[in-house]
Amino acid sequence: MPKTDTILVVNAGSSSIKFSLYPAADTAPSLGGGIIEGIAVHPSFKAGVGGETFSKNWPEGRGFDHEHFYAFLLDWLEEHLADNRIVAAGHRVVHGGTAFAAPVLVDDEVLEALQQLVPLAPLHQPHNLATIRALGQRATPIPQVACFDTAFHRSIPARDQLYGLPLACAEAGLRRYGFHGLSYEFIAGALPQYDRTASAGRTVVAHLGNGASLCALVNGQSRACTMGFSTLDGLIMGTRCGSLDPGVLIYLLREKGLDAAALEKLLYKQSGLLGLSGVSADMRDLLASDSPEAAQAVEMFCDSVARQTAQLAAAMGGLDAVVFTAGIGERSAEIRAAVAERLAWLGAEIDPAANAGGGPRVASARSRIGLWVIPTDEESMIARHTRALLAGASATRAAGRA
Ligand code: ADP
Repeated sequence: MPKTDTILVVNAGSSSIKFSLYPAADTAPSLGGGIIEGIAVHPSFKAGVGGETFSKNWPEGRGFDHEHFYAFLLDWLEEHLADNRIVAAGHRVVHGGTAFAAPVLVDDEVLEALQQLVPLAPLHQPHNLATIRALGQRATPIPQVACFDTAFHRSIPARDQLYGLPLACAEAGLRRYGFHGLSYEFIAGALPQYDRTASAGRTVVAHLGNGASLCALVNGQSRACTMGFSTLDGLIMGTRCGSLDPGVLIYLLREKGLDAAALEKLLYKQSGLLGLSGVSADMRDLLASDSPEAAQAVEMFCDSVARQTAQLAAAMGGLDAVVFTAGIGERSAEIRAAVAERLAWLGAEIDPAANAGGGPRVASARSRIGLWVIPTDEESMIARHTRALLAGASATRAAGRA
């Protein structure tokens, strides 16, 4: 039996490697996938492919590096995907800088350009690139496509990519890049099926996961994003602080003797819902907690979503709809209701029954703006881009032969 050509989609982080598999030929849903998580602590592997589930733990695994797990994953795929042949890999790469406004087939030159961007995303970019290198070193290398979290935001007007710093700083790379672009691109593509007016108009998409941000979509293109130079800016998140007066940083450096590593830990790992509540970074734990600090953290999260939605509405000159997506946005009726209540002055009114049922339409008949719940799917977006670039590459080869 001929093997099915399959695309491997990889999302590699500092402590986990997520993968999923998609048919190369069409836009059918994922064939399955899995995750290696707890790298460097308690590594474990879980996968579900073709109706079968697999798992493995490495009790002795402390100290194994990412390379070890890439090798494991690739061998595992070869062994367990007897009916599939992996013909390409699509990678989530956090930073494409200003140069990469679209996904790209990776070659040595691209890899070098992406390496130059490591200082802009030191927590993620090295892991993304290590995966690409590891796959490139296999005995039978396959085409690899890099899909960027920043690319979708290159449509943000040039003036809005600047900070109020001397212009030379922007030339040195200190500008707003925006993130979660693959999620926003997926939602922009799906929105016309739900709300034609909003998709041709002005929509705020609220990607509310562990990392959280908002995107202003005008006619399907990014007009603004609450994340800017880094993934710290904007909303209060699970463990990240969101918008902060930069004077705080100067104070911590000068008066409290924090160095860069301590600042990074404070702002990325110890702040946000976790730091405010002292209970957890997980919204479910906070909603279930009796602690007043947990309740306050939830209120602050909703305040930040509503206030920054209004900022984006100002950037767009109005608001036709809000789309909720990612873990909290898709699953928490309570948070959606609390945000909509804060946006009543902009015409938002939620339908409690529809909201409790999870949507997709959660606006009441009287609401002056659309309110939607649309599940995001960054992996399928990467698969789509990878297919398109593969098709482009084979068309170019065919033209070269003709
Ligand atoms: P990541 O950014 O890691 O991809 P997700 O999009 O999976 O994150 O979102 C994780 C967040 O979603 C966590 O804060 C989790 O508590 C929250 N979440 C998941 N399910 C629910 C739920 N039913 N109610 C409230 N929050 C939820």
